[in-house]
Amino acid sequence: MLILGGGVCGLYAALTLLEKGIEVTVLEKEERPGGLAAGHERNGNFYDLGCHMLHAHDEGVFDTIKGIMGDERIEVNLDSKIRWMGNFYRYPLQFQDMIKGMSLFKLGWYGSALVGSQIWYKFFPREPKDAEEALIMLYGKPLYRFFFRDFTHRYWGIPPRELSATFIKSKMPRLSAVDIIKKALAKVGVKEREQMAVDSALLEETLHYSQTGAESMPRMMSDEVERLGGKIMLNHPVKSVEVSDGKVTGVTCENGEVFEADYCISTMPMPLMAKSITPTPPQGVLDAAKNLHYKPIAIYGVLVKQVKCIDALYIYYRRRIFHRVGEPTNAGLKVTPEGHTVLIVEMTCDKGDGKWTGDPDIWKQIVADLETENICKPEDIVEHHILRCETGYPIFKLGFEPYFETLKKYIDDIPNLWTTGRQGGFCYPNMHKAMRMGADAAEEVIKLAGKD
Ligand SMILES: Cc1cc2nc3c(=O)[nH]c(=O)nc-3n(C[C@H](O)[C@H](O)[C@H](O)COP(=O)(O)OP(=O)(O)OC[C@H]3O[C@@H](n4cnc5c(N)ncnc54)[C@H](O)[C@@H]3O)c2cc1C
Repeated sequence: MLILGGGVCGLYAALTLLEKGIEVTVLEKEERPGGLAAGHERNGNFYDLGCHMLHAHDEGVFDTIKGIMGDERIEVNLDSKIRWMGNFYRYPLQFQDMIKGMSLFKLGWYGSALVGSQIWYKFFPREPKDAEEALIMLYGKPLYRFFFRDFTHRYWGIPPRELSATFIKSKMPRLSAVDIIKKALAKVGVKEREQMAVDSALLEETLHYSQTGAESMPRMMSDEVERLGGKIMLNHPVKSVEVSDGKVTGVTCENGEVFEADYCISTMPMPLMAKSITPTPPQGVLDAAKNLHYKPIAIYGVLVKQVKCIDALYIYYRRRIFHRVGEPTNAGLKVTPEGHTVLIVEMTCDKGDGKWTGDPDIWKQIVADLETENICKPEDIVEHHILRCETGYPIFKLGFEPYFETLKKYIDDIPNLWTTGRQGGFCYPNMHKAMRMGADAAEEVIKLAGKD
């Protein structure tokens, strides 16, 4: 049984299979397990590829991870903020915060457009043709222009009208007129009991981390896979996936090593996996693979000679070169030397651009923005390191759906091959969801192998 990719999805799938006595080999292209959730050590300190903390929403997954991590797991209260209109607000931004500081005239204009658009589309429903229209349907045109248009463009490098409506449906919480009125009532103390429970649960959510940051969870999962008899082959990028008589028979790595496969779960990027299949898939499948893209991320890990820089685990910024700054020291990360802290400065980028390569002008801008936001002074920055990932976020470009369906169907038609996880599923799960996706694929293998 082969698993392609040793991120948390692949590692969790491996654990699920090993529990049922199925032999597993994980092929991972990097020198460490964990994928996006891996931690990176530089000069004795650990830097996350974007702050990564585990949610306990999936009881089964959480119990397993809790057992594996033992004393290394630390609990952290969620404290996430957004810088907006010169102030800090709880993130995700609440509607009442979004409209703070607006004149009564503007408020009336934005509010009536919002309610009006929701009523209109309730009586005349239609599928939005792109992300712009989906946002307008949810919030009305004025609020869309005020809040969403430029930020979405800057974040994705694509204007909302060139993004699919699916992106809004899967990434944005629906803000109905009814919810807004309920929230407004809640502000003056008229609140449903259930509503209060949901709010306080969100406010008081406990996240899970470690003193070495995100790195310990995938490292310990990987140790557990090996303890149970599984093999983790690091530095083994998959080059080709051999299919014969409609079934996967083996996988060849870049170094020429060949691994036989009776079943194969792939968590590597779906388009890359499809292109790796031999014999070469039909032209329609190759075209589809060419049309699914990911947004790369460049994460600047910064060591600062200061005890604490921000008053939160992480803060989102709308008008700076970075989108989010995290300070994992505030979640219990141990940093050396004493009296220093680590900042995780996150940006989307394009492969090869200045953010990706670490152009000195980009670094200057980052330092200037950190100073402008009173996060740290340039003279207190000791060192910085760039961490990169080409497949940070799948891009739901306008018209991507048929390409996705073509690839998915082609792979699904191979009965002993599954493509799953964030990269393999071309979707946006958090770590616990990615692990659940791995477990679900593993369960299908277990059934087919008659081990259930
Ligand atoms: C900036 C950022 C912050 C995030 N913060 C959080 C958070 O705080 N909490 C949370 O729950 N989730 C968070 N997430 C989401 C989380 O990172 C993912 O859901 C999860 O890590 C996905 O795991 P995966 O195994 O599906 O994919 P990946 O981690 O991407 O794993 C895929 C693996 O496949 C490997 N691979 C690729 N190509 C090949 C090849 N050719 N051969 C062999 N191996 C290959 C990769 O090296 C990688 O290890 C965040 C995501 C981002 C981008």
